[in-house]
Amino acid sequence: MAESQNLAKPMLRGTMREQVDMRKHTSWRAGGVAERMYQPADMEDLRAFLRSMPVDEPLYAVGLGSNLLVRDGGLRGTVLLMHSALNGMHLEYDGSVYVEAGVPGAKLARFAALHDLSGAEFFAGIPGTIGGMLAMNAGCYGSETWGKVLRVVTVDRQGEVHVRAAADYEIDYRHVVLREGSEEWFAAAWLAFARGKGAIARDEIKALLRKRIASQPLNLPNAGSVFRNPPGSHAARLIEQCGLKGKRIGDAQVSEKHANFIVNVGNASAADIEQLINEVQRVVEQRTGVRLQCEVRIIGEHQQDTV
Ligand SMILES: Cc1cc2nc3c(=O)[nH]c(=O)nc-3n(C[C@H](O)[C@H](O)[C@H](O)COP(=O)(O)OP(=O)(O)OC[C@H]3O[C@@H](n4cnc5c(N)ncnc54)[C@H](O)[C@@H]3O)c2cc1C
Repeated sequence: MAESQNLAKPMLRGTMREQVDMRKHTSWRAGGVAERMYQPADMEDLRAFLRSMPVDEPLYAVGLGSNLLVRDGGLRGTVLLMHSALNGMHLEYDGSVYVEAGVPGAKLARFAALHDLSGAEFFAGIPGTIGGMLAMNAGCYGSETWGKVLRVVTVDRQGEVHVRAAADYEIDYRHVVLREGSEEWFAAAWLAFARGKGAIARDEIKALLRKRIASQPLNLPNAGSVFRNPPGSHAARLIEQCGLKGKRIGDAQVSEKHANFIVNVGNASAADIEQLINEVQRVVEQRTGVRLQCEVRIIGEHQQDTV
């Protein structure tokens, strides 16, 4: 089935595609095909779509796919593509920023600077959407997404909207779990920032981006840090100590520039990347006794179980 064919039911305004190549929707540019992908027109349309779904349909939210590996055998079910979908953002009367889940972090950082707010600069360096950042508690340079959250808006499988506070979640370093365990997706958030000076925030963003270009292999497809930093240590340091920089399986390679990045140097399969992840984990554990935990999310079927 060709991509981009509009198969949406009449009352829905978004776009349904079938057999979607997830290489185009993940920053690793690797992996399999999703059976279906729905890109909602807006929040109301997302709710209507969820109401229309059978209860057993597997659903996966995807933002910019910058922390995601989809196995080569593909994804059974439907991807909810939030990027370029839930795009609203405005300043509230109380000075907080209301931002929808599909907005990229860089856009939020620029919006905050434009309104003389300070503390949103770090979002500029993380190439994901607000939804993905809420799901991951993404952060860098001493700031984390949930450190800025006043409240979030979620949508559940029945299309019901919930307004939730941080206390409703178990939140830690790159870890966010809804305490009551129901299946919900982030649709929007209210974020609080301090008053500041736009020009200073813009300079800070530029400095932060320069730092990233100098230290990260941004010229090759990657998914940022593959492993979480173990308590009191750095995954990159451990990987480097074990002599794994440059280690390659197929077209997946441990970056020479930043040991906690795996880069796609050509036409890596998801299996190449996953095998390299497992190999790094194995060697680091054998040599240092530390079991590295994956930060990237791995979903889908292995090749032999192709959809
Ligand atoms: C070059 C580079 C640098 C990076 N630097 C950093 C960094 O400094 N700090 C950091 O923390 N991360 C970093 N990352 C990783 C990544 O950008 C973040 O994890 C980001 O938050 C992922 O957002 P996304 O929209 O791309 O999410 P995706 O990769 O699309 O999804 C990630 C997870 O979030 C879930 N998700 C996505 N949207 C929603 C939603 N609306 N509701 C519920 N769940 C959702 C997905 O199901 C998936 O489990 C980097 C990645 C790259 C490629």
